[in-house]
Amino acid sequence: MDTNREKLIHLQSVSSDLEPEPAERDKVIRQVQDYAHRFLDSLNSQKAYNRFGDSVKSILDDALQEDPEDISSLVHEIENRIIPPGLNPASGSLFGYIPGGGLYSSAAGDFITAITNRYAGVYYSSPGAVALETRLVNWMAGLIGYGKEAGGYLASGGSIANLTAMVAAREQAGLKSQDFPDAVIYLSEQTHHCIDRALNIAGMGECVKRYVPLNDRFEMRSDLLAGYIKKDRENGLRPWMIVGNAGTTNTGAVDPLNALGDLAASEKLWYHVDAAYGGFFLLTAEGREKLKGIERADSVVLDPHKGLFMPYGSGALVVKDVRVLAASHRFEAGYMQDTLIEKDIYSPAEISPELSKHFRGLRMWLPLRLHGVKAFRAALEEKMLLARYCYDELSNIPGIETGPEPDLSIFTFRWAPEEKENHDQLNKLLHEKLTDDGRIFVSTTSLKGRYWFRFAVLSVRSHLKEVDRFLEIIRETTKALGRDL
Ligand SMILES: *Cc1c(COP(=O)(O)O)cnc(C)c1O
Repeated sequence: MDTNREKLIHLQSVSSDLEPEPAERDKVIRQVQDYAHRFLDSLNSQKAYNRFGDSVKSILDDALQEDPEDISSLVHEIENRIIPPGLNPASGSLFGYIPGGGLYSSAAGDFITAITNRYAGVYYSSPGAVALETRLVNWMAGLIGYGKEAGGYLASGGSIANLTAMVAAREQAGLKSQDFPDAVIYLSEQTHHCIDRALNIAGMGECVKRYVPLNDRFEMRSDLLAGYIKKDRENGLRPWMIVGNAGTTNTGAVDPLNALGDLAASEKLWYHVDAAYGGFFLLTAEGREKLKGIERADSVVLDPHKGLFMPYGSGALVVKDVRVLAASHRFEAGYMQDTLIEKDIYSPAEISPELSKHFRGLRMWLPLRLHGVKAFRAALEEKMLLARYCYDELSNIPGIETGPEPDLSIFTFRWAPEEKENHDQLNKLLHEKLTDDGRIFVSTTSLKGRYWFRFAVLSVRSHLKEVDRFLEIIRETTKALGRDL
């Protein structure tokens, strides 16, 4: 008995380092805060891409020591070894993939979230956190144009939000495993690959994927879709779902959302719109015009870590009728019986795959309240105009060929000077040069078998200055390469 008490006292003293006193807390947070300032204040001179070698793998051999280490040397390691290599998504000169940003005020929200550690999955435990998440979901539902039955949840990102929608749609259609090979999903070949993965995870990898042809703006030819559906029905297949894009990742194309909505309604198919990239342009007048018809969808995915500049780990699924999520995701367990209280609000745990859940609401709510929606609206309008501006300026650079005009903030271009051959090789070389330089980053893609650049502007830190620098670097690099080759 006594030895146990002694042992307990000893163990407590050894583990007491896990609970720092105020002075120790201050020391930790000051080191972290100083680094945050150093990082943010030097973003202008940081590269958007840092080439790296094998040395980064030394992290794999790091010892996790028995004894405590000093916060300043650990921050030093984070700052110098872990953060620099590769892509710099915090940079305003990042024009590749889908840029984001990472708002400081979001980080502040995350700090409070982690400190208070609210259990955001269940209303009974954290009614404040759940109500706040619900408020944000309702706000997004309002942007889409949904009514009172709408609902949804904050996911870790678009991939998981899309997966949740697939599972809800599968259950809603009453599809069982023997039906999967006959179930038909209609999509664009520009649909994000996470939809394929979601189908696979949902057990539906063998369903029929009917790729609807695209027009020369990479938008789905809705005029051909009715014919496909009819033919599939005649052949005994089971049309199930239409996936439209509110801004594809690859070229920024917006599918004809209203026409797809008409077909989904008349054919009684689930209508899903992937707006992970484009959804928050709904905050702008022009974006609302471009995304008209999105309110017809049964489910919509948006990514706050893209269009609302949140740090990674913020996606959202919003559905027209929240009950479909409960039908596919609510399960009960004895150890959860206390949580079964009378309520008129869904807990995220009832309508999504997660139980213990990061309180994602605060990292979104705090910035929206602190800066006001106006700031987000302006930033998004700015990105659309920047894309248009960059497109026009690039079109004037000798040898540059542009793809379709941007609908939102993504477009494609390539360097195709008449006097040169093998343009694919040339563009690959240009990309290598740009990435070696690293002051700007732009990613590439393959379209109709050809090598293209994609310009995507969505970072909160991308402004006229960054885009002008981008243009300048493209001008000088193509000129130099043109001379040397
Ligand atoms: C980014 C993106 C996804 C995937 O979302 P993650 O947040 O990266 O998981 C899905 N669809 C589209 C259109 C996207 O742009």
